[in-house]
Amino acid sequence: MINSKLPNIETSIFSVMSKMATEHNAINLSQGFPNFPSDPTLNALVDQAMRDGFNQYAPMQGDFELRMEISKKIENLHNHFYNPETEITITAGATQAIFTIIAATISKGDEVIIFTPAYDCYTPTVELFGGKVVPIQLKPPFYTVDWKEVADKISCHPAGTASKTKMIIINSPHNPSGMLFSEDDMLELQRLTEKNDLLVLSDEVYEHIIFDGNVHQSASKFEALAARSFITASFGKTFHNTGWKMGYCAAPKKLMKEFQKVHQFIVFCVNHPFQKAFATYLKDANHYLKLSDFYQQKRDFFLHLMEGSNFKIIPSKGTYFQMLDFSEISNESDIAFAERLTKDFKIATIPTSVFNEGGKDFKQIRVCFAKTDETLAEAAIILKKINSQ
Ligand code: PMP
Ligand code: GLN
Repeated sequence: MINSKLPNIETSIFSVMSKMATEHNAINLSQGFPNFPSDPTLNALVDQAMRDGFNQYAPMQGDFELRMEISKKIENLHNHFYNPETEITITAGATQAIFTIIAATISKGDEVIIFTPAYDCYTPTVELFGGKVVPIQLKPPFYTVDWKEVADKISCHPAGTASKTKMIIINSPHNPSGMLFSEDDMLELQRLTEKNDLLVLSDEVYEHIIFDGNVHQSASKFEALAARSFITASFGKTFHNTGWKMGYCAAPKKLMKEFQKVHQFIVFCVNHPFQKAFATYLKDANHYLKLSDFYQQKRDFFLHLMEGSNFKIIPSKGTYFQMLDFSEISNESDIAFAERLTKDFKIATIPTSVFNEGGKDFKQIRVCFAKTDETLAEAAIILKKINSQ
């Protein structure tokens, strides 16, 4: 019989809530995906790539033209050059990039620091490779990092020869809280990881969704940090097509070499015509530079509609998620509350305790505002009706 390698892992909350939304015919603000179409121009480019015959394996690292465009994009935005020959790989979404990074670097006994609430794939992947997750709980309403606590959690082998902590995983803009790492956060991270010779996995899937004039602090912007970081990105999040499962990883040559050794045996390469399409589409920077304005309007529209509701709300600073604090409405668990909202009010959200260490419940649910204005308006009418009676 099989011994489960992940005995404590249940089906992802995203599958659970989306299924529940369908069963109860509820508005689905749970799983993070847009309910509007991807750009017809981009769709046509995929179609064209298929007609042009790009229907066989792509190069293992990804289409070279696309890697060049990604390299240019990062250099323009963050002033750091990744060699498209050796330092970029196209992946099946950020999820595969994250899996591959961890598979390539984490061995039995290695400690990996993560900040909770954390995106759900980090912990199981670390555990699959025998690593140990060391969680640091961030707290509402601002979810800021106490770097002294991080320093305290970095551990060394008894002889003090090498760090037992191998990696720190960060995610800014942060899912689910909408928090951002500041420049000072990144400098602290740089200092600590240099001092202790740690790797960094910087999950930057929401890099282009950032509000109120804030600037994305990519790990690639900080020289010494870039030298020890794997950066992951998601075209699905940026270009409204999460179902295409396309993304990439950027890292210095030495790290990327190890990444590619594993990547070639996980997928070898990813979807060729989509890569061709993105290579052309990325040439127009407006396609990603306008995304923050687009989503800021959605956030503001939704927040305006929610004025006067019984939820406590701190505006999200990035991502397409908004946390809603229901502590003044109910003392149910967030899971029970989210279930009741789906069944009785026909609105599906994500209970965020599932992303916390030990399921800690701060009475926060997450909604996804990557929705048409009509859906947001309908959702806000329902959410505003929810009160403590
Ligand atoms: N990291 C975070 C923080 C996410 O929210 C997601 C969901 N898109 C991913 C990684 C995975 O991205 P992808 O869908 O491209 O695999
Ligand atoms: N990233 C999406 C979210 O946070 C979900 C992706 C998934 O379903 N695995 O909702």
